[in-house]
Amino acid sequence: MSTENAAAAAESLNFLEEIIEADLASGKHTSILTRFPPEPNGYLHIGHATSICLNFGLALKYGGKTNLRFDDTNPVTEDTEYVESIIADVRWLGFDPANILYASDYFEQLYEWAKVLINKGLAYVDFSSAEEIAAMKGTPTEPGRNSPYRDTAPEENLALFEKMKAGEFPDGHCTLRAKIDMASPNMIMRDPLLYRIKKAHHHRTGDAWCIYPMYDWAHGQSDSIEGITHSICTMEFVPHRELYDWCINHLGIFPSKQYEFARRNLSYAVTSKRKLKQLVEENHVRGWDDPRMPTISGYRRRGYTPESIREFCDRIGVGKREMVADMSLLEFCIREDLNKRALRRFAVLDPLKVVITNYPEGQTEWMETENNPEDPDAGKRTLAFTRELWIERDDFMENPPPKYFRLSPGNMVRLKSAFIIRCDSVAKDTAGNVTEVHCTYIPESRSGQDTSGLKVQGVIHWLSVSEAVPAEVRLYDRLFQVEDPASEEDFKSTLNPNSLRVAENAVVEPALLQVQPGDKFQFTRLGYFCVDPDSTPGKPVFNRTVTLKDAWAKEQKKG
Ligand code: ATP
Ligand code: MG
Repeated sequence: MSTENAAAAAESLNFLEEIIEADLASGKHTSILTRFPPEPNGYLHIGHATSICLNFGLALKYGGKTNLRFDDTNPVTEDTEYVESIIADVRWLGFDPANILYASDYFEQLYEWAKVLINKGLAYVDFSSAEEIAAMKGTPTEPGRNSPYRDTAPEENLALFEKMKAGEFPDGHCTLRAKIDMASPNMIMRDPLLYRIKKAHHHRTGDAWCIYPMYDWAHGQSDSIEGITHSICTMEFVPHRELYDWCINHLGIFPSKQYEFARRNLSYAVTSKRKLKQLVEENHVRGWDDPRMPTISGYRRRGYTPESIREFCDRIGVGKREMVADMSLLEFCIREDLNKRALRRFAVLDPLKVVITNYPEGQTEWMETENNPEDPDAGKRTLAFTRELWIERDDFMENPPPKYFRLSPGNMVRLKSAFIIRCDSVAKDTAGNVTEVHCTYIPESRSGQDTSGLKVQGVIHWLSVSEAVPAEVRLYDRLFQVEDPASEEDFKSTLNPNSLRVAENAVVEPALLQVQPGDKFQFTRLGYFCVDPDSTPGKPVFNRTVTLKDAWAKEQKKG
C-alpha cells in the first residue's frame, strides 16, 4: 500500500476503530471484547440495531467477541418475554453472542463489592428521603450539602446494609450511597445512589433480593467481571464515565473503559421502548411486531432483511453528534437488497374485469415471463392468458387526461409479457361505475414474437380471472405524520390514521398459494411484499414492505 493509500485507509476509520487499533498496537489489549447491554423492558428498535451492529461489527472486524448482557436491575419493568425477543432479534440480525449473560448473575458479587466500599469508608446507608436527597444535591453552579448520615462509621453501615438486604426496611426507607464529593462539578459524583430497596419479584432471581443495584453500580462492575475491553454506550452516559472509573479504581478490578457515541434515530418513528410500549398497550398497533413498528421484529414481519438493516446501520455510521436518519435511506437499503433477490409475481390489488371480445371462450395460452430480470438463474414461469382478465382499476380511465398512457376508450396498452389490447367500450352498473372493460387483442403482438408493428407506450400487469386466487394485501404508510414525533407534546397525536390500508379483494398468481410466512416477492409495478403469518391455506396475506419508488419523497417535493 502506498503511503497515500494507507493514509486514506486510516482516515476512513471511525473514532472507535482508531481507539481499538491504538489499543491493539500498543499491546494494551491483545484482543477485544465488547458487549450489547439491553434492558429487557421492551422489544428492540432500530436505534438498538445500530448499537448491535456497532458492538458486534467492531469485534468481528478486530477478531474479538461480543457478549449479550441483559441489564436486568429493575425487576418492576422487566420480563422474560422481552429477554427472549431480544435474543431472537440479535440472532436474526446475523450476530452470534459469545455469551448470553445477565447483570443479575452478578448480584452476589456486586453486594460483596458494596461491602468492600463500605469497609473502606467509601459508602454509607442514607435514611434521607428521595426529596431530601434531591434538595441536598445542589445545582450545577452550587455545591450540594452533606447528608447527616454521611459520617456513620463503616461497622455501623455494614450492619445497616445487611439489614437492608435482609428485608428489614420497607421500600424507599433508605439507600446505599457512594461517599465521593458533594461539591463535585460533576453532579453524578455527588454521592450517587448504589442500591435501593425494592420488594419486587425479579424475572430471574425471584424473591432472593429486595435490594437492587443502580445502573451506575451494576454496569461498570459487570463489564469488569466479563473483561469487557471497550464498553460502548450512548452520549448521555458521558458524565457517568467518571463514576464508572471511580468504582473500578477503588475496587481494583479489571479496568474496562467506557466510550460514547451519539444515538441514531429515525425520521417518522419513535425510538424509545417506553413510547413503543404505549403504542402496543393502547392498541394503536397490533403488537410489538406490527409491520408499522420501528422494532426489529416489526421490520422482520414487514419483510425487511437482516442484510438491509445492517447496510442501513453501516451507511449512517458512528459519530459523536446525534443524528436522525432519513426513513428513505432505510427504504433505499431494502429496495436494493430485494431488487436483487425477490422473485417477480403479478398481483392485482383493486381488480377491474377486462373481457377480450375476440378471444375464444374456454381457450388458454401460456405466456412466459421472467422470475427476476436481475438474476438469470431465477428462471421463468408461465401465466394463463384467457378471455377474462383482471387489471388494476387505476390502470383504466374513462376520461383520461393528456399523456395518459394506460388503458382508456380507443387506446392501446400492452399487457406485460402477453398481447397488446385496445379498449373498445365499457359496461357500467346503474350507479355509473365501470364494471367491465371490453377490449380486442392483437394476435400478432405477442411479447417476444411481435410482428404487429404497433408502438404502445403503456405496459400494465394483469391476471386471468379463472386462474387468479384471492389474497389479502396490507398496505402500510408511515406510522407518524411528522418527522420527529418525540418532540411533540403528545407523540400519539401525530399518529397517521391511514398507516394501514387493506386491499381485501386483491388477487394474485396461483403459485402464491404455496408460500411460507416470510417469503418475499416483488409484485410487478407495485412494490415488494412479504408473506404474513396471518396467512391461511386458501388465502395468503401479504405485507407491503416498500413501494418500488420513493413516492413519499416525490409527494413532499411537489408540496
Ligand atoms: P430505550 O429508551 O429505547 O429503552 P435505552 O438506551 O434505555 O433505550 P437499553 O436497553 O438500555 O435502551 O439500550 C441497550 C443499548 O442500546 C445501550 O447501549 C444503548 O445506549 C443503545 N441504544 C439505545 N437506543 C439507541 C439509539 N437510538 N441509537 C443508538 N444506540 C442506542
Ligand atoms: Mg434504558
